[in-house]
Amino acid sequence: MNWLGPVEELKGIGPKTAETLKKYGIRSVRDFLYNLPRDYENFEAPTSISEIHPGKVVVKGRIDSLSTRRARRRNLSVTEGVIRDQTGAIKVVWFNQGYRLKQFSPEKEYCFTGNYELRNGRYSLVSPSAAEVSEIDPKTGLSPIYVAHGALKSHDFKRLISKSRDLFDSIPDLLPTVPKGTRKKALFYVHFPNSIKSASGARNYLAYEELFELTLASKLNRTENEKLKATPIPFSAPKIREFVSRLPFQLTGAQRRAAWDIFQDMEKDTPMNRLLQGDVGSGKTMVAAMSAYEAILASHQVALLAPTAILATQHFDGLSKILKPLGVKMALLTGATKHKADLKHQIATGEIDFVIGTHALLTDDTDFNNLALVVIDEQHRFGVEQRQKLMLKSPSGLAPHLLTMTATPIPRSLQLTVFGDLDVSILNELPRGRQPITTSILTEVETREQLYPKIRNVLKSKNQIYWVCKAIDDDPRSETTSVKSRTTKLKRDFPDVSIEFLHGRMKPAEKDAIMERFSRGEIQILVSTTVIEVGVDVPNASLMVIENAESYGLAQLHQLRGRVGRGKAASFCYLLTSGDTKPSRRLQELVKSSDGFYLAEVDLKLRGPGEIYGALQHGALDLRIATLTDIKLIRRAQKDVTTFLKNPENMLEYEELMTGITRYQQITTLN
Ligand code: ADP
Ligand code: MG
Repeated sequence: MNWLGPVEELKGIGPKTAETLKKYGIRSVRDFLYNLPRDYENFEAPTSISEIHPGKVVVKGRIDSLSTRRARRRNLSVTEGVIRDQTGAIKVVWFNQGYRLKQFSPEKEYCFTGNYELRNGRYSLVSPSAAEVSEIDPKTGLSPIYVAHGALKSHDFKRLISKSRDLFDSIPDLLPTVPKGTRKKALFYVHFPNSIKSASGARNYLAYEELFELTLASKLNRTENEKLKATPIPFSAPKIREFVSRLPFQLTGAQRRAAWDIFQDMEKDTPMNRLLQGDVGSGKTMVAAMSAYEAILASHQVALLAPTAILATQHFDGLSKILKPLGVKMALLTGATKHKADLKHQIATGEIDFVIGTHALLTDDTDFNNLALVVIDEQHRFGVEQRQKLMLKSPSGLAPHLLTMTATPIPRSLQLTVFGDLDVSILNELPRGRQPITTSILTEVETREQLYPKIRNVLKSKNQIYWVCKAIDDDPRSETTSVKSRTTKLKRDFPDVSIEFLHGRMKPAEKDAIMERFSRGEIQILVSTTVIEVGVDVPNASLMVIENAESYGLAQLHQLRGRVGRGKAASFCYLLTSGDTKPSRRLQELVKSSDGFYLAEVDLKLRGPGEIYGALQHGALDLRIATLTDIKLIRRAQKDVTTFLKNPENMLEYEELMTGITRYQQITTLN
């Protein structure tokens, strides 16, 4: 068997089938055998039809009189037939599964399992799964279920895989860390299980294999990063001490430790690749400021990349206050910046020490004189290519040090696998005096009675309010209240209050002006879309209302909520839900916990890794077996990868493994 050869080499797969398979990413023989069953159906111990009772049943027999008709309700097709064995006959019915007509041949015997129940006044077997008797393991009654790929249904996969049954024995080994033959046995038993236990054992090995590949990929990225050269930046204790003493507050212990990690990294002549993780409001920007100052003291340039113009502007304003008095030359570069060419010239000549900007920083005509540190705020908002672009802007041929920051905590399990090439510092301590945020869920109906008195209180104490809506304009097809109509309603209900709105379609200058007035306290209620989600910092805001809360992910809700609770006032967050159904688990978790790390773990379990890993990579990490929550297996893979890498010859010897992981390497690389 040509394991890596085209899938057409398998029995029963012609050009047409191969074409369909290709659409679903199945190109090689290997891909085909790695297309694993989603689950198993159990056809064990069929009942004679004469002895059948309503409920879940298994029957064995031939099927005839199959036909499909349109039901009275449009869009519904009904496929009906009769199943017979020696003892009797029953009706069988499927809905919207027209392909069943072609699945069965009258000569063959099949097993069926499903519910035998009353339908339109007569008993039928309703939408059963079915498998040819010869494809079911006679001892166990188990039959795999495959995900349908276009015209190829589960039973097609079953038929095709059965034809390749003899090939499994020649599947080569992949990993040196397991006994020989483990892989072929696992693949065999996952398709042809001889017990539920053997199937789950097989899946466990395949999950391990996947984690091994993922971990190996990110460790190799790390090794490659370590081969690069960077400018070492000496630590200047007295200057940093002076910087810290000028701050209006004391650094938290966690901020000190993180800064210390960074200073040590930057002293090396290999580039730093560190992720600063800290829950919303933990003070990441200050750590970035200290790192930037350190690099600038050594006569280097620093760039800070932020995902939105609002955030970039805010960073610029905040950091200018601290750094300008120390003689640092600062610049802001966003889409709205005027005289860009002049500014870019000053960046290229090195007149500017510290550039803060958005994507506008990434254009080809932005060159630096001696860029030594790149800081990326909310790193998950940027794709690999964008991050890479900035890293290549150091003209000296030396790689800049990289500090990425995120408030969306990365669960431990992902850190060990996908983010294995990063060093991590964690800000697990909030600055002193922070108020806890009380979160509650309100239905639309309760809103007015319960929320309005609260709003009046907040306004009376001169604190401010964020009101987050899903849409900008009204949409007649949906019931969500838009930014604009909510603003109108609030203005009517609170005539003496200054209320404005903010959304992503406004001009950058307009947005900045509104944000500016909100942070000066001139706007009391800001109605907004999620543009305020990332990073925005107005400590006087103490109440947040989120409409249609059920339509956001947990991580995003936590981010949004983090816009309040930054000042001295007790803070509140109201999650409004439209329906009268029970609030989702997500919302309930959010009420219970304000711990971003805990919530990220929950999110990972509820929604998978895509949410955490960021929009761009969404779906890219489509693991065959979801295992990113299995810490025990991850640790085993970790340990084994470390051993594997101790012997460099392994990398030459295990060719299939090494070429197979390049895809993961691209996904997981962060530099
Ligand atoms: P985030 O980690 O969410 O990016 P920021 O860096 O925006 O948090 O900091 C949130 C707020 O806390 C800012 O107003 C900042 O000035 C303030 N801050 C940062 N460090 C401290 C500290 N050690 N003590 C008090 N306030 C702090
Ligand atoms: Mg921030």
